[in-house]
Amino acid sequence: MELIGHFIQGAINTAHTRTQAVYNPSLGIQTKEVALASKATVEEAIAAAEAAFPEWRNTPVIKRARVMFKFKELLENNAEKICQLIGEEHGKIGHDAAGELQRGIENVEYACSAPEFLKGEFSKNVGPAIDSWSEFQPLGVVAGITPFNFPVMVPLWMFPMAIVCGNTFVLKPSERDPSSTLFIAQLLKEAGLPDGVLNVVNGDKEAVDTLLHDPRVQAVSFVGSTPIAEYIYQTATAAGKRCQALGGAKNHAIVMPDADLNNVVSSLLGAAFGSSGERCMALSVAVAVGDDIADQMIAKLSKEIDLLKYGPYSNKDNDFGPVITAQHKAKVIHYIDSAEQQGASVIVDGRNAAPEGYENGFYVGATLIDQVTPNMTSYKEEIFGPVLQVIRVKTMQEAMDLIDSHEYGNGTCIYTRDGEAARYFSDNIKVGMVGINIPLPVPVAYHSFGGWKRSLFGDLHAYGPDGARFYTRRKTITQRWPSTNVREGAQFSMPTLN
Ligand code: NAD
Repeated sequence: MELIGHFIQGAINTAHTRTQAVYNPSLGIQTKEVALASKATVEEAIAAAEAAFPEWRNTPVIKRARVMFKFKELLENNAEKICQLIGEEHGKIGHDAAGELQRGIENVEYACSAPEFLKGEFSKNVGPAIDSWSEFQPLGVVAGITPFNFPVMVPLWMFPMAIVCGNTFVLKPSERDPSSTLFIAQLLKEAGLPDGVLNVVNGDKEAVDTLLHDPRVQAVSFVGSTPIAEYIYQTATAAGKRCQALGGAKNHAIVMPDADLNNVVSSLLGAAFGSSGERCMALSVAVAVGDDIADQMIAKLSKEIDLLKYGPYSNKDNDFGPVITAQHKAKVIHYIDSAEQQGASVIVDGRNAAPEGYENGFYVGATLIDQVTPNMTSYKEEIFGPVLQVIRVKTMQEAMDLIDSHEYGNGTCIYTRDGEAARYFSDNIKVGMVGINIPLPVPVAYHSFGGWKRSLFGDLHAYGPDGARFYTRRKTITQRWPSTNVREGAQFSMPTLN
């Protein structure tokens, strides 16, 4: 069986003490195994990154950006293979994998503008013949730890920006679908990146903990579930590292009585069930303001859900594929069971999904649940599956209070035709990314991505301008070249221009 290894110092390395099974979730069978890095292997990767840093940091930024230009071209030229690898191990359908890759490429495009965003700031004559400037220096070796649900896009949120800023990088992708990540790392070498600047270690907690504790690692970017994000943030910052840790989500859509219902229904379908709901920006709760709109919405949604197609990643006509593992399928079903037991009504039930010919795959069909209340487990926790829950409220304020009191604050959206209501909502809601008649308000690569509350630990959001700030350290230099002929006396008061 194929063993997926690491990528250290520009070469594949299969060192391991343990391995883990990698599945094709569309078929429900193990197809590969992945090497889990020991502490020693991770330390080898960190050493490679540390050794590569001095030369890479001093490489002119335009040359670093040129590597990213070439990388972008290689990602485009290899799109089919990348989407195939994503599909095989994650299960997302080709059109969805292509969207993930494109969003990732846009981060590479933004990284190409590093000569512009790293220019710094300059002030002439801040004092008599004194000039001052701020520059943004790289941190050194930085680490990234990424989740299974975007094996290409989320790593591309991190390492292109970190590397173009002059850092070297150790990436620990998800052990559940590592092949596409490993493949794109090799493309970066083909694009001209010197060995050791980007290293990939596959592994689990042992690998992650080594990165968190090693004093050579200066900063850690994490994306994954909230309990692990909190652990990563606390451990990394206690070890003196800079850290941004993006966590889980429960994204609500408020459906106002004046909303355009056709638009609501089609966009809820895509945002709730696309990628089997395994997106941190998936809309998993529709909050209907008033019973009239709730009843109409549910009637339309249930008709449309019956028409959705799900099945293996390899059939491009499918709307969505399986969930990632048999354990995750069981967990999603458990949440649907619990909602029913706690008094909700399962309107469309995906628990017995078994597409013909793929009965062993890890499928859950699109599920719609009505009469959900805030005390239910399925509402409080992140399900991360193709399940849309409906909560009925009487007013927009009640809907906003519900969202504000939820533990998570990643994304949200409002469907309305009332500009005043939409503006009030976006201005006041305690959530980091907001859509107005837009179901998945994932910021483009030249903005930055991040939630509020327990969806993000740390100050700076991911990618875009915040990404550049996260991966650099400001240094401010004040300079004067005094005349050698003039002897100046010592000055004991705080220097001012007065
Ligand atoms: P996860 O937290 O299980 O794993 C993420 C990473 O952490 C993986 O690399 C994994 O190997 C590592 N990890 C897991 N357990 C660990 C432990 N005990 N100690 C140290 N490291 C550990 O997340 P996942 O299931 O791969 O991904 C899904 C989750 O990610 C969802 O909660 C989703 O909302 C979240 N997510 C968030 C965003 C965001 O931007 N906020 C984006 C994508 C996914």
